[in-house]
Amino acid sequence: MHCWCRTFAVLELVHEMNLNIPIHTSVMMNTHNEHAIEKLKEYGITRIVVGREMTLSELSLFRERTGIEVEYFMHGDMCMSESGQCIHSGVVFGQSGNRGRCLKPCRWPYQLIDEQSGEVLDSDGPGPYKLALKDMCMYRSIPQLIQAGVFSFKIEGRMRPAPFVRRIVSTYRKAIDAYLADPAGYQVDEEGWKSLYENRARDFTTTFAFGKTTKKDIGFDGKREPRFFSDAVKEAGFQDDVLKQEPDIQKENAPHRTLSVRTGTIESAKAAIRQWCRCRLCRRRGLPPEPSVVTGRLR
Ligand code: SF4
Repeated sequence: MHCWCRTFAVLELVHEMNLNIPIHTSVMMNTHNEHAIEKLKEYGITRIVVGREMTLSELSLFRERTGIEVEYFMHGDMCMSESGQCIHSGVVFGQSGNRGRCLKPCRWPYQLIDEQSGEVLDSDGPGPYKLALKDMCMYRSIPQLIQAGVFSFKIEGRMRPAPFVRRIVSTYRKAIDAYLADPAGYQVDEEGWKSLYENRARDFTTTFAFGKTTKKDIGFDGKREPRFFSDAVKEAGFQDDVLKQEPDIQKENAPHRTLSVRTGTIESAKAAIRQWCRCRLCRRRGLPPEPSVVTGRLR
């Protein structure tokens, strides 16, 4: 059993409750550098799921310099944006990808249109699915993954049928065991590769593992784009009776009117101050020491 965290709040809670279990961080913690890893280690984190945007060379350095266990995506659905940072679905539809509700707008067809003339500018392009990354597949690179110090391998299985996931997991398991048993004599099992390839959802890419992505990593024609969406996770929400017991919080959060005014002289600032019961003077760095902005709560 282990705890899988995506916020510092959960980390605090784990310590408060004195839980003695391994603590791992989710990819949603956006761990992309050594400083972040060192900070997480202070909280007792023993393993991190790194962002999918990291290369294997970077993972080697993490392992060597911090000693942390690294988990890395090896197969499945990719995001166009940085792991856990995409707000596309949340902004356009109010359905946040960070709450499991993504409507996957990156996997829809788009046209590039001149705003003034309405002319379609990309009719000769490779296809309308401009943001649709192919699926990650590291089957042919298992030795490189292990040599980079990857400790745990992540296979994306959300919304996939069980037989689909079972085939992928067992194929990778066999290959990893074969490499660990005989690294020098290891060869890619072509039958395993054929099984993955013939049952693929999208076409395959190694995405960021060996460097930046290019247009060869995009499935522009959308022909293999599955038509499914994530399931929404039900919000826990607040209970009315709990809120009623929190009058102080309600009062603190009650709306109040504020007003800011920029003044050019001390006199006009004083005049503004006289109108308000509470006020604050702000001086901008590099400007003469006259008050430039006065902010206050209205009476
Ligand atoms: S729209 Fe959804 S699937 Fe696409 S990059 Fe953003 S979070 Fe990922």
